Formats: sequence, structure tokens, C-alpha cells
Amino acid sequence: MTRLIAVSGVGGKGPACFLVETARKRLMLDLGYGPQPGLWPDVAGVGRVDALVLSHSHRDHAGALELALKIGNPPLYATASVLAHLGRTGSALPLNGTGQVRGIKLHTGRNGHAPGGVWLHLDVGDGLLYMADHGVESPLYAFDTPPPAGTIVLDASYGMYSDSLDDCKARLGPVFTRGMALFPVPPHGRGPEMAHHVACSRGALPNIGEDLRASLARLTTDDRESLRRGRAQELARIAREAPPIAGARGLMFTGAGDAAGGEAAALVARWECEQQPEIVFTGYLPPGTPAQRLTASGRACYLRWNAHPRLADNVALARVVKAHTVVPAFGEATHLEAWRAAFAPARVLLDREIGL
Ligand SMILES: [Zn+2]
Repeated sequence: MTRLIAVSGVGGKGPACFLVETARKRLMLDLGYGPQPGLWPDVAGVGRVDALVLSHSHRDHAGALELALKIGNPPLYATASVLAHLGRTGSALPLNGTGQVRGIKLHTGRNGHAPGGVWLHLDVGDGLLYMADHGVESPLYAFDTPPPAGTIVLDASYGMYSDSLDDCKARLGPVFTRGMALFPVPPHGRGPEMAHHVACSRGALPNIGEDLRASLARLTTDDRESLRRGRAQELARIAREAPPIAGARGLMFTGAGDAAGGEAAALVARWECEQQPEIVFTGYLPPGTPAQRLTASGRACYLRWNAHPRLADNVALARVVKAHTVVPAFGEATHLEAWRAAFAPARVLLDREIGL
């Protein structure tokens, strides 16, 4: 029987790791770590896998590649951009097209969430669509509508949340107007989107970390195909002309998003006991990180910038692809009854194993 096994990623926020088993082949989809420190997927009982397919390069989807030895060190499949981000070699998947992984037909499309990121549609059972992380509101990253699939694994990390990116921008507006704040951001996710928004809406360039500058530059060259049309020129200008972060001055954007590493970690350590600048986190606040500590103490505030789909986006997508079975991934299981109501008549499952 063909089945989908959630090794990790269903029932709460955690690393992505799914296994697809057919009569002949076993494919692993994503092998992530975190987002909270120390959280690894338990692959001890998985056994040998024929191929490892990655959706995008974020750590909670591709940060546990060192565990590949425990599953037989399978060949790696990802887009050329993701392979380059990870510094790995493997078989390159198209950003939007078709291919084969160990004899199984695969269709990919851009996920509207990260450079080089894709959803994965596998020709198994009556179609399996693995969205990994995705977004339909991104002002920068293009999203391709996937083909029909009987079963869809959705990015449900926002639970019942329904505010739009415009709502987020409105809430962030006063911080931008006050004019001095540190925003720890993922350089390969929200970072370019927020820097682009500030540059376009405020008529002044933000201060950016070198990690973000490198990501912006890649978006105008190697990662350009992940962009919506007409964005590359402005991003190139930001990469070229935005000043570096030198002391508490202006609106500052740098990684990592949870301030557990990178320049943001050093700046947060320097400013945690100061009154200024404001520190604003905009993504998930993993337990055990500065993001969680500073927002809990009141030194930093939390104002979300949407990087994942809202419930209504997911409901619309499940209908577009005509899914009869919905697996909400990365969200809290407490939402199960509300998800069932929202996705009806499709059935909603949080089971570890599902027949396809
Ligand atoms: Zn992601």
C-alpha cells in the first residue's frame, strides 16, 4: 500500500520530515532541524530511504542533513538554488516543471516563501501534494498554483490566523515612522521582503546586514527566477546602496530571525539592557532563543510579517486542487476541530500514517 508517514511535522511546530512509501520506493520529503534549539526528527526507525527531496533551504526543512547517514545516505534532490544555498551537490529539480525521482513522477512549482523554494507534487496514489512552507501574499516571491491532488499536506503553522499582510504593514507602520529599530529577520525569507517594503514605502533605504545584502544580490542573479516580475531592479539598488548597520541608527534588518545567531545575535546582546533601539521580532518565537526571551521580558515586541498562508488561503488551495484529504502540518493539534469545519467536505487527518 502507498502511504505517507509523518516522521515529524504534524501536531505542532517542529522540524519537517515526511516519508512516502510505495510498493517499490521510499522517498523522504525534507529533513529539518528546530526551529527550537535541540529539536531533531527521530529517524531511528525509518530505515533505508531511496531519495531525499528538499522543498527549500530553511533550517526547519533542511537543517538535519547530517542525519542522512542514518537513512542510508540517499541521493539528494532539490532546486539548484537550494543546493547552492546548502553547499551540497545533488540532482537539480526545476523551479516550475516536471521530473522523476527514482521512477516516481514529480511536479514542482514556486512556493512564494523563499528563494529556490518549491512545493512538491508526487504521482503516487491519487496524487500527493506536499506544500512544505508556502505563501500567496509575498510581494517578492512568486507562487505557482499546483495541479490537482487527492491528498494535500498544508503549511498550517498559523492555525486559525486570518490577518492579511496589509494588516501587518499597518501595525508595523508606527515603528517604521519612529525610524529607529532592529528587525532580526531570515535573510532568505522575510528579510528581503521587509527591506524592499521599507525602501519602497518610505523613500529611504534601510540599514542591512551583510547576510541580507548577499541574499538580495542573489535574488537579482542566481535566484532571480524565484521573484515576481519587475522586482529585480529595486532589489539590486538596495543590495548596492543600502548602508551597513553601524551603531543604533535607522531601520536595521539582519539575520538570524530568532537572533540566536548571526549579526542579530551580537546586536541583541549589545542592546538588550539598553532602552534603545526598539527591537522587533516578526516571525516564529522559538522557545530557548533570544526572540522568545526578549519578547517575554518586554524588551522586544512581536509584530508578525506574514510568511505563511492564512487559514482562508489554505482552504482556497485545498479546494483548487480538489483534495479529499487534508493534512495540516506544523500547526497545533488543538485546531483540529476548527480545521475540520473549515476544510469540509474534505477530511482532515493528523495521523502519523495515512494511506494514499
Ligand atoms: Zn520556510
